[in-house]
Formats: sequence, structure tokens, C-alpha cells
Amino acid sequence: MTYKAEYIWIDGTEPSARLRSKTKVLASGAPLPDWGFDGSSTNQAPGDNSDCVLKPVFSCPDPIRGGDDKLVLCEVYHVDGTPHPTNNRAKLLPIAEKFAEQDSWFGIEQEYTFFQEGRPLGFPAVGFPAPQGPYYCGVGADEVFGREIVEKHLDACIEAGLKISGINAEVMPGQWEFQIGPAGPVEVADHLWVARWLLYRIAEEFDVAATLDAKPAKGDWNGAGAHTNFSTKAMREGYDAIVTACEALGAEGKVEEHLAGYGHGIEERLTGEHETAHYSQYSYGVSDRGASVRIPWQVEVEKKGYIEDRRPNANIDPYNVTRLLVNTCCSALEK
Ligand code: ADP
Ligand code: MN
Ligand code: MN
Ligand code: MN
Ligand code: MN
Repeated sequence: MTYKAEYIWIDGTEPSARLRSKTKVLASGAPLPDWGFDGSSTNQAPGDNSDCVLKPVFSCPDPIRGGDDKLVLCEVYHVDGTPHPTNNRAKLLPIAEKFAEQDSWFGIEQEYTFFQEGRPLGFPAVGFPAPQGPYYCGVGADEVFGREIVEKHLDACIEAGLKISGINAEVMPGQWEFQIGPAGPVEVADHLWVARWLLYRIAEEFDVAATLDAKPAKGDWNGAGAHTNFSTKAMREGYDAIVTACEALGAEGKVEEHLAGYGHGIEERLTGEHETAHYSQYSYGVSDRGASVRIPWQVEVEKKGYIEDRRPNANIDPYNVTRLLVNTCCSALEK
């Protein structure tokens, strides 16, 4: 008897990495071995020295194949055992470990856009749909496009045991969001990458492509972000820590450092319009969807809770975002 393990990894595509996967058939009950792949086909190695190593780091039931089959998220290593430069998870681990005592939680809101025949799902072949307004959390065939896929994806994530906490239709036709969390800095990112893989895989069956492009339709249409909600134990217990975290994110050098790790094309999305703050101006505020960092209203009422960094693009590598937030905020809170 056998089971199938779908080995999933993050490739070296520039400017934003993509997912790759392949299947290994294993004897029933056998553990997940390290595996390899051709790095010259994924922008991760030269052709004359092409072998890269896959090390399983997170696995869950495969809701598509079912039975004992598994999804297996891997880190990429060189054959000499050192992490590949594209392996951002390996860079997060020591930071997560260093500040583990502060017990960071994350909730990431992954926005994405369905495409078919080269345009967002729901866009007409010629011209544009009616302007933004009715689509966000909409209902009805004239406002919502792709719900069948979204529902299937949600069920698949739950069946896989991922910490998915909700879904909603977004501001532009064909644009949606799912949320992963709350979970720790490594776990939220592992689950987010597997949830992305499931999204692409399920949309495949509908001949639809899901994209994380941060500005999928030019002009007066919302971009796609990955708002990142963040708290530490101290922030969940008191307001001083909330303010300390917000101030730390605006400190000298920190704005640039964070933006550099918040995804490709950040200037195109953080224009100061469409519920964003301009990338060059850091700000935080209560209930303010035009600020870089929002303090939710109930957090201000209860004087404890979490903050929402609204800057990350949909196309982030979440390991970079959680590393930056833990490093910046937990360093400041430690003092
Ligand atoms: P929005 O109102 O910005 O659309 P969402 O409901 O889409 O917010 O997402 C909020 C996310 O924040 C959820 O994933 C939720 O699990 C997460 N969250 C809730 N409480 C905390 C917390 N204390 N720390 C970190 N994340 C949290
Ligand atoms: Mn081959
Ligand atoms: Mn949301
Ligand atoms: Mn949203
Ligand atoms: Mn949000």
C-alpha cells in the first residue's frame, strides 16, 4: 500500500516567487524523506550544478486527493546543507526563536484576483465593469465572480487543518480575500503558502488563474494587499505596548527596511489612494484605513489587542513580513 505526498516549494522567480510542486509515492506509513529538484528550471541554480534539496518542514492532509495523501511544504537547501538564498523561512527561524517569549501572533489578510482570458474575472471583453462600490462583500451574479472556487478553497483549507479564519469578496470584481491566523510567525506563513497552493490548484479546475499581483487593474481600481495583523503578549494585555509597536515601525530607517520586504511594486499600490497611505509617509491611527498602520477601534476602546500593518502587498513572502515585524516590534518592546 502507498500514499501520495505532494512536495511544495517556493521557487526563485523574480521579482516575486511562485510555487512549485511534484508528487512522491511512498509506502504507507513511511516518513517524509528529503528530496531534490532541478534548480535550473526554477531560477534557483545554474544548469551545470542544478541539484537543489527539498526538506519537508510542514505537512497536512491533502484535501484534493483525500485518504492518507499529504501536502508537504519544503524549505530549499543547497546540496552542501546550507539554506538557499531564496529560503526566507530559514532567515525567520532565528528571529522567531529569539523573541519567542513575547508570543507574537499574526493574522494575514490575503487578497487576490481571479483572471480568465487575460482579464479579471467579471470584467467584460470590451470596456470596464461599473465602478467600485457594490462588489465588496457583495451578493448576486451581477456583483460577485468566482464564488464557487472560493467556497471550494475554504472547505479545502479547513479540511487540510489550516488556520483559515474567514473569506470575503473584495472591492474590485474578481477580487477576493482569505485570512490566515491568528498563529505564530512561522506557522501563519507556512499555512498561508499552502493555502495559496490550494487556491491555484482548485482554480485550475475552473480554468481560472488566481494572481497575487498588487495592482492587477491599472487606474481607479483597488490594488491587492496582505494586511498583516500583529500582536505580542504585552500588546494583548495593554495599550502602552500597542503605542510602542506603532512608534517602533516609524523609527528612523525602519520604514524603508519594512517596505523593502513588503512585496514587489509597493509604490504602485501605496499611492495614498484606494485605502492606502503613501509609501513615503508613515502614519498610524485608530480606525484609519488611510494610515500605514491601523489600530482597530475596539482595541482603542479595550486598551489592548493588536495592530494592522496595511502596507504589505498581496505578493509578499510572508516569512519576510513576520520576521520584520517581530524583529522591529519585539526589540522595541524588550526595552
Ligand atoms: P479587516 O477588518 O481589516 O478586514 P480581517 O477580519 O480581514 O480584518 O482580519 C483580521 C485578522 O486579524 C484575522 O485573521 C484575525 O484572526 C487576526 N487577529 C485577530 N486578533 C488578533 C491578534 N490579537 N493578533 C494578531 N492577529 C489577530
Ligand atoms: Mn526529469
Ligand atoms: Mn479583511
Ligand atoms: Mn481586504
Ligand atoms: Mn484589513
